[in-house]
Amino acid sequence: MSQNELSIPGISTPASRVALGTWAIGGWMWGGPDDDNAIRTIHRALDEGINLIDTAPVYGFGHSEEVIGRALDGRRDKVILATKVGLNWKDEKPFRDSTPGRIRQEIEDSLRRLKTDYIDIYQVHWPDDKTPIAETAETLAALVKEGKVRALGVSNYSVEQMETFRAHAPLAVVQPPYNLFERGIEKDILPYMEKHKLIGLAYGPLCRGLLAGKMTSQTVFPKDDLRSADPKFQAPRFEQYLAAVDKLRAIADKHGKSLMVLAIRWVLDQGPLIALWGARKPEQITGVSDVFGWNLTAEDKAEIDRILKETIPDPVGPEFMAPPNR
Ligand code: NAP
Repeated sequence: MSQNELSIPGISTPASRVALGTWAIGGWMWGGPDDDNAIRTIHRALDEGINLIDTAPVYGFGHSEEVIGRALDGRRDKVILATKVGLNWKDEKPFRDSTPGRIRQEIEDSLRRLKTDYIDIYQVHWPDDKTPIAETAETLAALVKEGKVRALGVSNYSVEQMETFRAHAPLAVVQPPYNLFERGIEKDILPYMEKHKLIGLAYGPLCRGLLAGKMTSQTVFPKDDLRSADPKFQAPRFEQYLAAVDKLRAIADKHGKSLMVLAIRWVLDQGPLIALWGARKPEQITGVSDVFGWNLTAEDKAEIDRILKETIPDPVGPEFMAPPNR
């Protein structure tokens, strides 16, 4: 196995440490779908050596999974497919539901949309306070036994919730938010993952495009784009985050890399992590190989932390995204 891959318990092929995130491909909260570009993006990702694709039923209310199913026709066995479970929706408004009945319904819907008879990594999208975690985990463990799922994961779970889950089902993967600006997992989740040999799929590694380095204070987002509701993209914080981006660029330049590549490399250098690069146009997913074959030094990391402390006095996390309970 190369340094560019990680082995996930239950999955026979090693996973590429850069994976494709497909929330935007679903269209919802990203200004609408564009299927031709989405399919070309998925094919480009495979050509670039990416072999893990992350999706969820809620991304476009089935649309992201459907587009992936179409794009992978004839290539299913080349890809590690990760999808999720545990969100329901009404009138395009999601809410948490990890009841056994909902899980049984969702697995069949996802298999149909993805045109496959198994899911490689099946992750609970958000913890559901109204359903005992034991019931959720035991239903998912049964899906593994039935051959419908190869490995289990949880997303947005606390350490305590993971402890309960692991008492009832084998846990292989954790999907937390993690990027240069959103560091909440460092205090407990990252050490827990390392201790229990869990693989992390880091979501938002480019912080919803901020770390792609192409935004300015003039950038305007459509009303149905999630960045319109994200406190990082509102004054006065937006200017502060953009100032940090400008300063971080000097570290990327020193290595002869783009800021985007630096942001992804930083995530991979923090632990047993795979970065979910969110893209919806093929030209966005070029240069994946630039992420590999080098590392950030301890001095680089210290300089990054100094820049962040200096430019962002009141950092804010991705909590605005949390869907409501039933
Ligand atoms: P992300 O990967 O941090 O950033 C995506 C953004 O980066 C988009 O705005 C895109 O721009 C921009 N971008 C990507 N490549 C670019 C390039 N080459 N040049 C310029 N801009 C570029 O954010 P994300 O999509 O929120 O997160 C990634 C994935 O993580 C999702 O797709 C999803 O699979 C997963 N996720 C999971 C959860 C969860 O609760 N489990 C939550 C959020 C995300 P455009 O806007 O121009 O396309």
